[in-house]
Amino acid sequence: MEDSEIIELATDVLSKVTNLMNESLYSELDGELTTLWSMKNYFYACASVGSTVDEPPKHSITLSYETAVLLYRDIEVYSKYIETGIDNELFDQIFKDFEYPKTLSIHSDKELSIKQMFISGITWIFYHELGHLIQEHGYIRTQYNCHASTDIVDCASNDIENESVLSGKPSAVSHVTEMAADYYATVNCLVALLAHFKGDELEAETRSFTSSLALVLYRFHGINPYERTEIPKGTHPQPLIRLEQTMPLIFEFYSMIDLAKEKNFKLDRLDLVNITSWSSFTAGIFWLKRGGQKGIPEDFMISGSLQRPGMLEYHRVMLDIWDEIKPEIDKIKRHGNKYAELQFSEQYRKILR
Ligand SMILES: [Zn+2]
Repeated sequence: MEDSEIIELATDVLSKVTNLMNESLYSELDGELTTLWSMKNYFYACASVGSTVDEPPKHSITLSYETAVLLYRDIEVYSKYIETGIDNELFDQIFKDFEYPKTLSIHSDKELSIKQMFISGITWIFYHELGHLIQEHGYIRTQYNCHASTDIVDCASNDIENESVLSGKPSAVSHVTEMAADYYATVNCLVALLAHFKGDELEAETRSFTSSLALVLYRFHGINPYERTEIPKGTHPQPLIRLEQTMPLIFEFYSMIDLAKEKNFKLDRLDLVNITSWSSFTAGIFWLKRGGQKGIPEDFMISGSLQRPGMLEYHRVMLDIWDEIKPEIDKIKRHGNKYAELQFSEQYRKILR
């Protein structure tokens, strides 16, 4: 596809999702959601608010055209990489008991498969921004002095847009609201997949969504080694932490529904665990190769939160700050859906205490 066709596809998809949100929610609130496109020549997404929390919401989501083009090209090159089987010897060793996919194509038409992966990836980015808006994270962040404006900027190269280096409580609030937006986005993408697909197609779409999500987060991460984080700093959690938080949501969320009966979905929880780790691992290796990096930097690959150095300490900070701000979010959020709101299970809370 030409760049212009990618942009056309992205604008078409997101204008449909925006219209749906306006019809189902914003019109009821007497407000409006708009999607805008920016000419910034890097990966950039932003959630902006033109209303106070007491007024009907005037929300907008801005994405750069370049975001769409970069994401599409990542998916295209990654799909080719998987099909060459060039690293299958390595994958054979790691995924011994799992018959991992040898192609990402769902259809005989390869371009159509890439387009569908792209749609799930760009929709996830959109829903991430929407999560910030629905829960009015901009307002919460100004209350905690994270930044002066209610705009929330997400971009691949943090140093371009985020000059101020946050620390302490403002940083914790910023990190946990990013996690909450990821949570919202992932659950809403899964709900959309369940609404549109069933059977084999749902299995294939779920699998390709996991790869798109991993590619988006590795693009944010780059090829740097993991930096041990016990105390949050800056505006965003490290993308590897975000990947480890979002992937398990896929099997946790699907486990709540009898998908075998309702959707003729044959993959069980273990299959989904394997698929999410395969997607994350292959996207990680692909990303290193794309960046010309030889060898695997320390802790670069997805692992369980409990294994990653410093994560328990970090999550204690996240849990405490989320418990502090969640009641405030509940007062001002534009829509409530407990399934799409960040939560820490009782079991995990016990481990952290
Ligand atoms: Zn964000």
